Amino acid sequence: MTRDDLLAALTQRLGPQGVLLGADMAPHETDWRALFQGHAMAVLRPASTEEMADAVRLCAAARVPMVPQGGNTSMVAGATPDETATQIVLTTTRMTRIRDIDVNDMTMVAEAGVILKLAQDAARDAGALFPLSLSAEGSCTIGGVLSTNAGGNTTVRYGNARELMLGLEAVMPDGTIWHGLRRLRKDNTGYALRHLLVGAEGTLGIITAAALRLFPRPVEEAVAFCAVADEDAALSLFRRFRGRDESAVRAFEYMSAGSMHLVLDHVPGVSLPLAERAAHYVLVDLASSRPGANLRALLESVLEEAMEAGEVTDAALAESEAQRAAIWKLREEHPEGQKRAGASVKNDVSVPVSKVPEMVRRSCEALTRLIPGSRPVPFGHIGDGNIHMNLAQEPGTDPAAFLARSHDIMDCVNEIVRELGGSFSAEHGVGRIKTDMVEDWRGGAELAAMQAIKRAMDPHGLMNPGKVLRGL
Ligand SMILES: Cc1cc2nc3c(=O)[nH]c(=O)nc-3n(C[C@H](O)[C@H](O)[C@H](O)COP(=O)(O)OP(=O)(O)OC[C@H]3O[C@@H](n4cnc5c(N)ncnc54)[C@H](O)[C@@H]3O)c2cc1C
Repeated sequence: MTRDDLLAALTQRLGPQGVLLGADMAPHETDWRALFQGHAMAVLRPASTEEMADAVRLCAAARVPMVPQGGNTSMVAGATPDETATQIVLTTTRMTRIRDIDVNDMTMVAEAGVILKLAQDAARDAGALFPLSLSAEGSCTIGGVLSTNAGGNTTVRYGNARELMLGLEAVMPDGTIWHGLRRLRKDNTGYALRHLLVGAEGTLGIITAAALRLFPRPVEEAVAFCAVADEDAALSLFRRFRGRDESAVRAFEYMSAGSMHLVLDHVPGVSLPLAERAAHYVLVDLASSRPGANLRALLESVLEEAMEAGEVTDAALAESEAQRAAIWKLREEHPEGQKRAGASVKNDVSVPVSKVPEMVRRSCEALTRLIPGSRPVPFGHIGDGNIHMNLAQEPGTDPAAFLARSHDIMDCVNEIVRELGGSFSAEHGVGRIKTDMVEDWRGGAELAAMQAIKRAMDPHGLMNPGKVLRGL
């Protein structure tokens, strides 16, 4: 089948609004971080699972590689086509139905293109909670967060996307539809295909819908923004809260001065709720669905203890919903602050929670030795042992020259992370950027199994080729 024949068949099946060509493809051809400028043959926008399946079947028959895409917020260029104009992007932007919410089963069935924020809103309107929360929630999709097994702010309490998923519906690489939307809490019936697709970054098939877990809505919340003495103090504060009431800790976030001050200096509409700038900050977010939990008293008493111990040097407690939102904005704008401040290299790493202070300190020292003048800007989910150990360029220097050192920068951090028993990718995945690290870190039996699974499920290598596994 020629390219023109394929595009004609796809247009006939999906209608003109289902096929984008030329300049209309632009937003789908580059990644969120603008590191790659891809060129697609076409961008397909199926409106239903059946349309998606037919589109995949046509592409597979023509042996045309496909790149699944949701909100295109991947931090590792996982949803970006390559530069050859031979790949077709399959976007889920028109698959946006919430098919079902059941508050007896506490489940929601959402199509892959539902924006995460809208899934949260739908759960809230039904009197329940869908707890996954990340800074990209206004753009990223259910299909995308499952395909990357996204974590985020509430992982410490509710787990990663994988833990929030009960069943999936997906289109396999040959166009077959897999109807796996089971809403079961227990289902031990052989290999868990749903868990293979979660975190596969679109390399094994396209998720078209998911059955998700819901939770009771919190009836009490309490949020504080604190200045802490150092990284050890941040971790010690986490342990204090966990020791007093683990189930109440909904989020616990660390922010270094380097990263926080980029937000304060570059992002409009934010302000520090403390008397003066500090070297380290922590956001504590407590929530409970138990009436009378008295979280405010818990927050005050733990902070008091920590102040007496010299761990917390200042703290602001949110007195209203507006103040809570303003405090959270300070945390959520970190990716934006770094983007506005120039080029930055991202190291989304994890280590055992107890090793975070050592990892951050050693990485900061090693990075400033590697590139004098550059600015380490670590922040992240310290309660999960997951820090974005990022490095921002020196102001006024050439961003391209800085980015050319990306691999040196990542290697510098990874060497320390590896020594501490950590991972080179905690939540962003592998995408196009970290395939060499998969080979290096996951060689032997693990890599062989991954390659065998990919070859078995996608024998022609058509689903997001070159992502996660090099050459497949
Ligand atoms: C500002 C910002 C903050 C972020 N914060 C976090 C965070 O706190 N925690 C975290 O884990 N991540 C975070 N991320 C990255 C995170 O991976 C994405 O936000 C999200 O998980 C991706 O969703 P998406 O819909 O944009 O997917 P895309 O970027 O479109 O795709 C991501 C990957 O999934 C694949 N994919 C997309 N949809 C499907 C589908 N339906 N079926 C199969 N494969 C599919 C793509 O091929 C690609 O490999 C952040 C990103 C940004 C820009």
